[in-house]
Amino acid sequence: MLRLNEVKLPLNHAETELSAAILARLGIGADDLLGFTVFKRSYDARKKSAIVLIYSLDIDVRDEAAVLQRVRHDRHDIHLMPSPDMTYNYVADGKQLAAHPEFKRPVVIGIGPCGLLTALILAQMGLRPIILERGKVVRERTVDTFGFWRQRKLNPESNVQFGEGGAGTFSDGKLYSQIKDPKHYGRKVLTEFVKAGAPEEIVYVSKPHIGTFRLVKMVESMRENIEALGGEYRFDSKVTDIDIEESDNGRQVRAVILESGEKIVTDHVVLAIGHSARDTFQMLYDRGVYIEAKPFSIGFRVEHPQSLIDACRFGPNAGHPILGAADYKLVHHASNGRAVYSFCMCPGGTVVAAASEPGRLVTNGMSQYSRNERNANSAIVVSISPEVDYPGHPLAGMEFQRRLEEKAFELGGGTYDAPGQLMGDFVAGRASTEFGAVLPSYKPAVHLTDLAQILPEYAVTALREAFPAFDKQLKGYFRHDAVLTGLETRTSSPIRIKRRDDTLQSLNTAGLFPAGEGAGYAGGILSAGVDGIKVAEAVALSMAAAQSAR
Ligand code: FAD
Repeated sequence: MLRLNEVKLPLNHAETELSAAILARLGIGADDLLGFTVFKRSYDARKKSAIVLIYSLDIDVRDEAAVLQRVRHDRHDIHLMPSPDMTYNYVADGKQLAAHPEFKRPVVIGIGPCGLLTALILAQMGLRPIILERGKVVRERTVDTFGFWRQRKLNPESNVQFGEGGAGTFSDGKLYSQIKDPKHYGRKVLTEFVKAGAPEEIVYVSKPHIGTFRLVKMVESMRENIEALGGEYRFDSKVTDIDIEESDNGRQVRAVILESGEKIVTDHVVLAIGHSARDTFQMLYDRGVYIEAKPFSIGFRVEHPQSLIDACRFGPNAGHPILGAADYKLVHHASNGRAVYSFCMCPGGTVVAAASEPGRLVTNGMSQYSRNERNANSAIVVSISPEVDYPGHPLAGMEFQRRLEEKAFELGGGTYDAPGQLMGDFVAGRASTEFGAVLPSYKPAVHLTDLAQILPEYAVTALREAFPAFDKQLKGYFRHDAVLTGLETRTSSPIRIKRRDDTLQSLNTAGLFPAGEGAGYAGGILSAGVDGIKVAEAVALSMAAAQSAR
């Protein structure tokens, strides 16, 4: 199989033009082309009236060696190479490890995208993981989450952050990432998602997304698969302590303890707990697990009419089914040294109440697969760092988040209504009193006020500079009645539970595998899944090493 990159065709090309383009590029006849599949499809919309689709194609030809040689010799403008082998290979014979009389099942804490992929790979290897999740099964969790949005009743253990599927379940379901992935683990994640019911296009479009409802079904189907392979799920099972044995050889995990008091004996614990498990971060810190503070970002969700973003990005091609609802990416380097950027942009979606602690308020964004809600939303956030903004303690970033979320709760009226403001008023420094043409999508409601009261001065200054500057990147962005909703504080984890590069185990606690977003090793669904695979492999290799040492 050969991979042909950079095949460019107009947006509205006919199906047959793809094979014609291959024949022309490779200088072969139709009989020599045995077949092809689209590996990736992206677009270049820099020229709105002439948007171009860019393909990477996997091609089966009659004489691969001859085609490769001819192209390499004569056509340096053509990007052709043998297709890389992307088959996923398991690193250990789990069934053999599990058959050992001293085998102890690995424990995965948290079943977000990271825990899901860890559990799946461990189960596929035959290592029968036990999965402990503090929240509920996804359908019950959905009732609690939608209940919170409608009735303002927060269940601290079952919400947007906690429960089966993790933080990304009620989301836009964007499935792309900029991580380096030489072993093609991202492909394994996407392939498993497709097997579990995600649309097939996610493996080949450049910016795939699946939306909330499909994610819910996918998470259920993956659970059935993991259980059929010998994995065991336990919901309403918050881990509140861990047993660490200390000896001359160092520290080694020996068990996890649930809120009920039950102890589960194990030597391998994967911590896939996400960025909102603040009580668990505290417990780990109290148990002496090495943790350090890391940078994250703070800001607002911003809503514009989706039609404005579509027109701005795609011009006359706005609404084209291949392009879908347009997204955007913005960055501004403010004169006070702060970077301001768009994050987790959700085309045609809604702003959601993403709180997990009573009396604290935080926003995020979600959409359905169709992305056909009237507003585009994105977090617009300012980078902050432990050195400058919350120095002194590994958990200081977490406390900083809490204080901001409390302020947001109070400013919203103390009922989980979010504080909001019009963009024009925020930049001009006056409170808003009524909405314009853009109506906020956040539920239960948005309470208009002066958002500058919640954020630190440097963040307000940077944002006030950034909004007008963004208008130069996206015409119409600086719009008086665009709605800002507060507050974004959980763009990524405020801590890193540092691990060794070789074994992926905690820096000072063997058998503990910090993983995914909460541990500071991923940011987003896909990268959390990729990290989950890496950690599953590290667990299996550690078990194999322990067994051969016996
Ligand atoms: P999480 O998904 O946070 O999962 C952690 C799990 O651990 C949770 O289920 C939690 O209940 C459980 N847990 C925590 N502590 C314990 C404990 N002590 N005992 C037992 N269980 C515990 N990313 C994207 O890439 N694309 C998007 O479109 C996108 N949209 C998002 C929209 C929203 C509303 C939110 C909140 C996030 C979104 N994200 C998105 C971010 C993405 O969801 C996260 O990056 C991803 O879920 C992180 O995966 P994770 O498995 O590391 O952690």
